[in-house]
Amino acid sequence: MEPFKVHILGCGSALPTLQHFASSQVVEIRGKCFMVDCGEGTQMQLRRSHVSFSRIQAIFISHLHGDHCFGLIGLISTFGMLGRVSPLHIYAPEALEPMLDAMMQMFCNGLDFKVEFHAVDTKRQYVVYEDRSIIVETVPLEHRIPCCGYIFREKPTLPHIRRDMIDCYEIPVSQINNIKNGAGWVTPKGVEIPHEKLTIPADAPRSYAYCSDTKYMPGLHKMVEGVNVLYHESTYDSSCAERAKLYHHSTAAQAAMVARDAHVGKLILGHYSARYRDEDILLKEAQEIFPNALLSNEGMVIDVE
Ligand SMILES: [Zn+2]
Ligand SMILES: [Zn+2]
Repeated sequence: MEPFKVHILGCGSALPTLQHFASSQVVEIRGKCFMVDCGEGTQMQLRRSHVSFSRIQAIFISHLHGDHCFGLIGLISTFGMLGRVSPLHIYAPEALEPMLDAMMQMFCNGLDFKVEFHAVDTKRQYVVYEDRSIIVETVPLEHRIPCCGYIFREKPTLPHIRRDMIDCYEIPVSQINNIKNGAGWVTPKGVEIPHEKLTIPADAPRSYAYCSDTKYMPGLHKMVEGVNVLYHESTYDSSCAERAKLYHHSTAAQAAMVARDAHVGKLILGHYSARYRDEDILLKEAQEIFPNALLSNEGMVIDVE
């Protein structure tokens, strides 16, 4: 199976601490790398992760709070210094475009690559990116300003051909594609060999959902139903539930309720408030509701499977 990984570059929240960096991740899928959010310090963390800068094809920004986008202009400037020539695609709420243009005029003159801005509608769930092997769709979230998450999904692949069967029935190479696409085979003596006998089913497509800053949304599970891995913000523990509501954030228990209701494979907690020296309280709270929960941490690499 091809690697599908999430590199955690930062999982803290807005106030800087010595424990965590601001939000940023790299999703590595089907040989491509996509950054999700780009808080301050992202470049240092990218260096530490050993993901090459030149592999980042696109950056998806969830919302325009500084802890999710203050690293962007620095990273673009560095891409320039590293001699990047391939276009950089940025997906973000539309309000970012004029600000980014102004900053790039000031700091990033004479880049040898294009920065292509794609305004994202944070209010609806739709596909914002698609290529041969993957799609990325938005997840509308409820925060103090326009905000959305992103789901990375592999597209279904065709089944694998069973070499031994092909040899056994002396099936010509010209028929391989038909068989991959569902056909069977009829031998010269008229015996029908079903498609299922000639192939091994394809691996089930995998998916990863990144749910950035949001208040608890009882209906969110419908949008992330069945993903293999869900990252959901868990800024607070339940003793701060009122505060979470006030600032449009979630508690670890609420993140776990979304994971449980969406039947996800694994829940990753993050976006911790600066008040926690030890996030175990968040983990315990989440695991009581959804046992397969874990704490994200800088440097962690999560396999989506
Ligand atoms: Zn935040
Ligand atoms: Zn925020």
